[in-house]
Amino acid sequence: MTTELLESIAQLRGRIADARRAGRSVGLVPTMGALHAGHARLMEQARAECQLAVVSIFVNPLQFDRQDDLDRYPRTLEADLDVCARLAVDVVFAPAAAEMYPQPPTCGIEVGRVAEHLCGRFRPGHFRGVATVVMKLFQIVQPDRAYFGEKDAQQLAVIRHLVRDLNVPVRIEAVPTVREADGLALSSRNQRLNAEERELALVLYQSLCEARRQMASGVRDAANVTGAARARIPLDDRLRLEYLEVVDPEDMQPVERIDGPVLVAGALWVGSTRLIDNLLCSPPAGRGDACVAPTEEGRDEETVTGARSADRGTPDHERRRRPSGRP
Ligand code: AMP
Repeated sequence: MTTELLESIAQLRGRIADARRAGRSVGLVPTMGALHAGHARLMEQARAECQLAVVSIFVNPLQFDRQDDLDRYPRTLEADLDVCARLAVDVVFAPAAAEMYPQPPTCGIEVGRVAEHLCGRFRPGHFRGVATVVMKLFQIVQPDRAYFGEKDAQQLAVIRHLVRDLNVPVRIEAVPTVREADGLALSSRNQRLNAEERELALVLYQSLCEARRQMASGVRDAANVTGAARARIPLDDRLRLEYLEVVDPEDMQPVERIDGPVLVAGALWVGSTRLIDNLLCSPPAGRGDACVAPTEEGRDEETVTGARSADRGTPDHERRRRPSGRP
């Protein structure tokens, strides 16, 4: 089984047309490369559900609000191709920027209120850039299914709105967040952290767990929940919390009183690296599996992990299924 690397839109369209003629279903996993076990999870699902699995690797300049972030974004195509080959991906589409944007685009996708808060507030134009490149990929590949991680919950919401509002005939599959054994969400940006920063970075997940604990214990006022969560971030020159908010998981609007499932989401700068994470939480009715009991050390029992997760990271839904206190 070989993975084909295609760099031109015309070649890719030809390859997809062949597959279509043979009656094969097509799955698309859009990525920016520097692939890790979180991406691998999306690819595995695409591989399992579709007959032609296509992974795009494109660091999309349109979605970067800072030139230095774009310049420093890790690019590891050779290693990425190995990952894709190992996971039996059929096609990797890795276009140059000039292939995707032969001239500066004048048209784009306006994303509206779903992008008003969280990352949208701090990264002007980011979700317009994301929605525009994803729409282009949908037009080029015309997949039956496309795979996105819950790790980027606001991005997922933007894509769901895009597909619904513009009648794009694709099924969006959401894949749970894959985490390191200690709970840190896998991210291509984690590569930039030094050892000390890697330790510090964990406080983002811990503060989200604190928010979830507050809700589990019956706190319904979102400001109280986020206050307690923020208090978990230590005063340290290397840490800067950009936001920590409780929002409606569907439209990403802030919630004041927690009466149903909510998303608690945060962005934390660790040194010069910006990390995001989120947890979907339910107030006590969902206590059985959506909430976490604190252990004596103050760590969440769900962060205890076994060998598999140390190797590959653990998806959130598997953590939730685990009986407390057991790996
Ligand atoms: P990126 O390359 O960061 O643009 O991510 C490509 C896709 O992988 C997006 O749909 C992300 O949400 C998803 N993804 C990134 N990190 C993770 C993770 N830790 N777990 C699950 N999906 C992820």
